[in-house]
Amino acid sequence: MNDAPERHPHDVLVIGAGGAGLRAAIEAAEQGASVGLVCKSLLGKAHTVMAEGGVAAALGHVEEHDTWQVHFRDTMVGGKLLNNPRMAELHAKEAPDRVRELEYWGAVFDRTRDGRILQRPFGGHTYPRLAHVGDRTGLEMIRTLQDRAVAAGIKVYMECTVTHLLARPDRVKGAFGYWRTTGQTVLFPAKAIVLATGGIGRAYQVTSNSWEYSGDGQALAYLAGAELIDMEFVQFHPTGMVWPPGVRGLLVTEAVRGEGGILRNKDGERFMWKYLPEDRRHEYAATDEEASRWVDAQSSGQTTDARRPPELSTRDNVARAIYTEVREGRGSPHGGVFLDISYLPPEHVRRKLPSMYDQFKELADVDITAGPMEVGPTTHYMMGGIRVDAETGATTRTGLYAAGEVAAGMHGANRLGGNSLSDLLVFGQRTGAAAAADAATQPEMPHVDPTAVRAAAAELAAPFGSGEEEGDAGGDDPYRVHEELQATMGSLVGIFRNEEDLDEAIRLLADLRARWDGIRIAGGRAYNPSWGLVYELRNMMIVAEAVARSAKERRESRGAHSRLDFPELDPAWATKNNATRLSGGTMEIVATALPPLPDDLRQLITTEAH
Ligand SMILES: Cc1cc2nc3c(=O)[nH]c(=O)nc-3n(C[C@H](O)[C@H](O)[C@H](O)COP(=O)(O)OP(=O)(O)OC[C@H]3O[C@@H](n4cnc5c(N)ncnc54)[C@H](O)[C@@H]3O)c2cc1C
Repeated sequence: MNDAPERHPHDVLVIGAGGAGLRAAIEAAEQGASVGLVCKSLLGKAHTVMAEGGVAAALGHVEEHDTWQVHFRDTMVGGKLLNNPRMAELHAKEAPDRVRELEYWGAVFDRTRDGRILQRPFGGHTYPRLAHVGDRTGLEMIRTLQDRAVAAGIKVYMECTVTHLLARPDRVKGAFGYWRTTGQTVLFPAKAIVLATGGIGRAYQVTSNSWEYSGDGQALAYLAGAELIDMEFVQFHPTGMVWPPGVRGLLVTEAVRGEGGILRNKDGERFMWKYLPEDRRHEYAATDEEASRWVDAQSSGQTTDARRPPELSTRDNVARAIYTEVREGRGSPHGGVFLDISYLPPEHVRRKLPSMYDQFKELADVDITAGPMEVGPTTHYMMGGIRVDAETGATTRTGLYAAGEVAAGMHGANRLGGNSLSDLLVFGQRTGAAAAADAATQPEMPHVDPTAVRAAAAELAAPFGSGEEEGDAGGDDPYRVHEELQATMGSLVGIFRNEEDLDEAIRLLADLRARWDGIRIAGGRAYNPSWGLVYELRNMMIVAEAVARSAKERRESRGAHSRLDFPELDPAWATKNNATRLSGGTMEIVATALPPLPDDLRQLITTEAH
């Protein structure tokens, strides 16, 4: 093993090759920057590829009344007005162009009868708005972006994990990590760095996320002195698989409900009627018959005056409803509820939801065209993350940018389905442009402090103790610590929270953090997943602590954050984001002012859509 790290300097280094990273890298390369794109698994293996339901944009193809103003309003209402209003505005205005651009680059979306991009309904969206490719939208998006990135000559570093950012007081100057294949360390000096590493789902046991989502970008930014916000807002998607145990948490796309899926408890009751928020009840169908008319109109591509079914309430609301039904003893045999789409023609279900059909057939031996699925909430998406400037994606640390799920502000207290894929495109593009412009102002490649590189390398070597390559572990086991972390987050910082549980979680997390230093692993450096887990654990512990501490501070219930001891919205919290900062070596949570909502945008929120 060569102790000196490989060295790969770039004008712009993008860490993360999902939709946000790819879109940022393409933009930076098109502005003339030399771009490096790092991802810890293979190119194309990101969460974006798993996205099923679609990408939200007010194209107005299915419902001509749809405009950016209605999309903005829906996003803000869904986010309980805690969104950064400028981000929500830019997103609603620019998403249609970003989707058309994707089509121009070769993405083939499902079509309307007159040949335009088809759009499907989703929870919290007033009109059918999600451009989609069956239930494999993310795959088409990644395929298109990857082709474009490769053609733009971007240098891709696959199976390479970034573990440290190297920063000086004036700006961030580089990144350090290792090749998973060999264990060789690698240094990326860079004039500007974009973090696009996605979410934090692996801090929880039941999750729709895969192994990459360990909060790396949030933790790297925090350790480099950047600010995180809104960390209390973790989205629990209402419908994950609950059976068999090996696939618990795997996503059942909201498109099932968008296509007419009905939720029932064990008594056959369509329970969502009971859980619609009073102030929005008028937006939903009043009877089964009206909901059926809406579904018929959707499947035949007709417009209708019928309102949408109650299952298309926002995710936070549906997740709480399912959780409550199960807790009160009305759940299905495996601890979920029933989701039924089998009343629609089988060929329609197979055409609209091919992945869901295969997923249930292969994993649970359930034919969804013949009977209901069992579903329950699963940790899905992180609304909180790195604080960014709306226009540029700049973090609070000079030279460091962020886009995609790792960044915060766009979705407020709760994200609407479909708004992540559009977020990646809009802010990926803006952030790539801004990072390239920043890099262009730096005449020299930054000098990376060799002491910082040596310190990062020493931290990487520490879990091997003195016995590297000799197979003698000793110390604490990273897998055990991970399981305990997940159990703590699932039971004490889940859908419903209270002060006592949060205090207990903070105490347990501190104990786990103390054990982290004593973790020892066996084996060598090449393809050693235990070694990778040690640094992912460091990151998950940071984000877990930020979630628990921020959740404790917000003494109200808003969006995805539900406090049993403070069940109502509190107007005093309506204009505040909790910021998480590293201060004197410890984590500090400070309430900061939400960017003001200009009057013209405020008016859009109070205006009802047609
Ligand atoms: C099953 C599922 C279905 C979904 N369906 C939809 C949908 O229909 N519509 C919608 O809008 N949203 C959907 N979402 C959410 C959406 O897919 C994600 O929020 C979005 O794809 C995140 O994109 P990203 O570019 O921010 O991150 P990702 O696409 O996850 O990419 C993260 C990248 O960062 C890399 N990485 C992470 N850490 C490191 C590190 N330390 N070093 C180097 N590289 C690193 C990873 O390897 C990966 O390349 C879904 C999510 C899931 C899980």
